[in-house]
Amino acid sequence: MQNVRVRFAPSPTGAQHIGGIRTALYNYLFARSQGGVFVLRIEDTDQKRYVEGAEEYVINALRWAGITPDEGPGIGGEYGPYRQSERREIYRKYTQHLLDSGQAYYAFDTEEELDQRREAEKAAGNHSFRYDATTRGDMRNSLSLGREETDRLLEGNTPYVVRLRVEPGQMVHIKDRVRGDVAYRSEEVDDKVLVKADGLPTYHLANVVDDHLMKITHVIRGEEWLPSTALHVLLYRAFGWEKTMPEFAHLPLLLKPTGKGKLSKRDGQQLGFPVFPLDWGEEGDDDYLSGFREAGFLPEAMLNFLAFLGWNPGTEQEIFSRQELIDAFGLDRINKSGAQYDFEKARWYNQQYLINTPDAKLGPRIAHVYAENGHPISEEMSVTIAGLLKERVHTLPEFFEQGVYFVARVGINDEKTARKKWKPEQRPAFEDLRTRLASVKDWQAPRIKEETVAFMEEKGLGFGAVLPILRLAVSGTVKGPDAFAILEAVGREETVARLGEGFNLMDRIVADQRGE
Ligand code: GLU
Repeated sequence: MQNVRVRFAPSPTGAQHIGGIRTALYNYLFARSQGGVFVLRIEDTDQKRYVEGAEEYVINALRWAGITPDEGPGIGGEYGPYRQSERREIYRKYTQHLLDSGQAYYAFDTEEELDQRREAEKAAGNHSFRYDATTRGDMRNSLSLGREETDRLLEGNTPYVVRLRVEPGQMVHIKDRVRGDVAYRSEEVDDKVLVKADGLPTYHLANVVDDHLMKITHVIRGEEWLPSTALHVLLYRAFGWEKTMPEFAHLPLLLKPTGKGKLSKRDGQQLGFPVFPLDWGEEGDDDYLSGFREAGFLPEAMLNFLAFLGWNPGTEQEIFSRQELIDAFGLDRINKSGAQYDFEKARWYNQQYLINTPDAKLGPRIAHVYAENGHPISEEMSVTIAGLLKERVHTLPEFFEQGVYFVARVGINDEKTARKKWKPEQRPAFEDLRTRLASVKDWQAPRIKEETVAFMEEKGLGFGAVLPILRLAVSGTVKGPDAFAILEAVGREETVARLGEGFNLMDRIVADQRGE
């Protein structure tokens, strides 16, 4: 069996979009399912686009998601360094090889000269200018200028780039596990820059050299890289590495929730849901981007959701543990067509994971949310809240949003129901209930219920008349889990106090309505 080696190769140019995390996940799942190795490589040769903190961001995001690389920066491995900015010497050596064998050449054209040429082509009504076999003869490069002039320019430290010499008439075949055989003609590929004027390699050169040296067997990445792959195949050919070239799997695009157009980072801000794994920047900042973690998602739920954005197991099963994903995953079940980003589905996944997580395990996460909102709670309370609310919420912050009444007095939020249900003339009866509850010794839901039912029978009142009043007074709303369970969680003294306050508030609400 082949020793599978795959890599996730982000460029630190900003926060890593959720699509990148999906790419990382598919690489990880494939490696694990094949007993292979998952490499993290940081592609940071584009100094103009380098963004401080972006490498750290992607590493933190992978850590949070539990997508653990086997080799990479800070981890080590036989094929390092794993940060491209630390591999300059390696690229220099391989560039020299292409120059010596005549498959690459020096180009001295300045930006202004290239611009002028583009303008001239445009003015003449031609197609946009391409630097290739048909045009390179009239540009300033080592092929058109000859050896002597080239040496003179190099000795004079004239700035240059190195370009790949793409000869027409070649067929390029990409073996893609998702798309089958994808063919290009070499005429479709221009003489791409391999080394920039700053001496650093472009993405294309560094990517191919590293995939070769790191013995990558499968390149799994987004569909947007498919056109570049034709160039990459030509590069493998130029190096004489075509026989050991990796297989490719180009993943379908992530589409907007409407299914129209690519999901963009601005969609998150506009539509009000995260398209990033973690927050980037601070809320309120211009460049702030919201993340799944801070929006209260469990990493396992996010992974399950992402796994299905572009892949399906061929069965009805939707909930997969990490191990089940590893066992079921395969490149052959990756879809070709774009995957619609359905945020409601992400919420559904999170809810399923919340329901399936034991209360004791959810407790600390809920406690954290309450503490963040300025209401620290005990471990016991956090576990109780987990049990009572987990079927009603979709994300962690909702445990607080929907359950703040467990720890704080919130008044009456649902005045409409209060007006309908509260009869001031029944106040004396409800005061009786309050007294009865104050004397309940064993403050447990069944016992509280028993006492309430005894009260109802005595007064000839039904659940429909009593429960809404209890709920409104204690939790401010008639929604929520079992009323007696809420009372138990709130505690006896506090319940009794809230009933008194609640009756007063409801008296006032009704009086206001009557204009008294
Ligand atoms: N550095 C590229 C990126 O940012 C990697 C593409 C690839 O996987 O080859 O997405």
